[in-house]
Amino acid sequence: MQLTGYNYIAGETSAEGAETFFSVNPRSKETADLPFHNATAAEVARAVEAAEAAFTEIRDYSSEKIADFLDEIAEQIEALGDELLDCADRETGLGLPRLTGERERTTGQFRAFGSFLREGSYLRPIINSEQPGQPSIRQMQFPVGPVAIFAASNFPFAFAVAGGDTASALAAGCPVVVKAHPGHPATSEMFAQAFNAAVAAGGFPAGTFSMLQGNGIDVGQWLVAHDGIEAVGFTGSLRGGRAIYDAAASRPRPVPVYAEMGSVNPVVITGAALAQRADDIAEGLVASITMGTGQFCTNPGLILLQDSPAAQDFIADVTAKMSVAPAGVLLNETIARGLEGTVGRTVANPEISVLTGGEAIADSDYFCFSNTVMQTTAAAIRADDRLQVEHFGPVTLFVVCEDGADLSATVDALEGNLTSTIHAESDELGDIGDLLHQLREKAGRVIWNGFPTGVAVVQAMQHGGPYPATTAPGTTSVGMNAIYRFMRPIAFQNVPDALLPDPLKDANPLGIMRLVDDVYTDGRL
Ligand code: NAP
Repeated sequence: MQLTGYNYIAGETSAEGAETFFSVNPRSKETADLPFHNATAAEVARAVEAAEAAFTEIRDYSSEKIADFLDEIAEQIEALGDELLDCADRETGLGLPRLTGERERTTGQFRAFGSFLREGSYLRPIINSEQPGQPSIRQMQFPVGPVAIFAASNFPFAFAVAGGDTASALAAGCPVVVKAHPGHPATSEMFAQAFNAAVAAGGFPAGTFSMLQGNGIDVGQWLVAHDGIEAVGFTGSLRGGRAIYDAAASRPRPVPVYAEMGSVNPVVITGAALAQRADDIAEGLVASITMGTGQFCTNPGLILLQDSPAAQDFIADVTAKMSVAPAGVLLNETIARGLEGTVGRTVANPEISVLTGGEAIADSDYFCFSNTVMQTTAAAIRADDRLQVEHFGPVTLFVVCEDGADLSATVDALEGNLTSTIHAESDELGDIGDLLHQLREKAGRVIWNGFPTGVAVVQAMQHGGPYPATTAPGTTSVGMNAIYRFMRPIAFQNVPDALLPDPLKDANPLGIMRLVDDVYTDGRL
């Protein structure tokens, strides 16, 4: 495939700006030759205006037409073939097995949304028929309008140009303007070409999809500030997500930002679990901490246990395993420098002991950081929120608690997370309830005797959590419910049947499940 290094705006390539940047191979630190052009303010505006124009058509498309379009996108991504895998591997160092699985998840996501749309009840039609003293009220979900999407660096497929935010926004019936991540610009351009082909094949308006390149905050800031953007999806750092949230909130007409940001994913291990399964838990934890070189938002970054000889043995075992595990490739220099900075600030705290690693690997010819295990006390975590910072890499921090009360007080002091995990034994169920409820208050997903990495794309999945894990804890960025970030309910009061959208008409011409006078039915009124 011929790459241009240009922006893709409503089906056309565009490179009006003089500022460029280059793709860097994290395994060799070599810079590729093709310059990628940062979008200009005028190009950002053109992309948003094209999305606004596209929305006036797409908002009235049937679920079936949008579902066919989502299937077409999946096919166009598959048609990119192994060239896509090779390109992403060159730009991220994530490796072909991981990227092959991620591509499957990405195309599967589009097809799953297609099925979800065809079933029809995602529109959530609710009808309260006219009663004495009460008008007829009928409600369903509608797309919000153009959505700005910020691609993540650590999932070049599943959370990037063709990621879950894009899939759910398009499924909702919203055009998208994607700010590509500068860590993998060539991969992003390949996806843009696939989207353009799908837009043309599906007969969708060209402004349905645009992709802007940029390394630096300007492109994103212009995008979020544009009044034509109605919602924002973001995956990345707390600092970036918070800046975008603040920018959207300070617009004359603020719009919601669905940002998924940092998380340390606390893991609590009981003494009984250690007595029964210390070896297995240690092995599972090390695999989870080092998976993808630790560059997962669900990486287990904080491990809480009560002090005991068995706990000390366990910590020593995890440390030994981490110290012999090979240092993996980090995505790019920004991530490597960022990790050096966050670990550096943590180890400067006198309450922190470094058990292994803790520093950059000198003279390495690839981007990396030493596998790191640190230890501190529960009192130290409670005294300093900065120890709850995400270390985005193969790093974890043990928190040794004096007793059950110390553990409970520490869990209470935790910030919001995507996940919380407990390892316990079945004969502890009577004692563990309070702790589980405490952990529930701190996360969007509670895991029993497992590990937080690995997020299934299924209806019941919740990938979100209280701030600072996200800016919208009532929503998810994985699974079918992600669509509701980009839809809003509209109620029709006493509107004549002929003017109602099909899902709300008396006859239920689409034959979909509706909540009619408080009873679910797929029948007519
Ligand atoms: P990032 O710095 O948050 O950047 C993500 C995207 O947001 C990029 O396109 C970036 O643009 C843009 N951006 C950042 N700050 C912005 C601002 N103030 N205004 C407008 N746009 C802004 O994330 P990253 O580059 O992927 O990695 C940096 C750090 O983020 C990592 O070291 C890690 O700590 C964290 N991270 C967390 C997760 C997670 O899932 N929790 C995932 C990835 C990264 P430019 O890059 O063009 O400036």
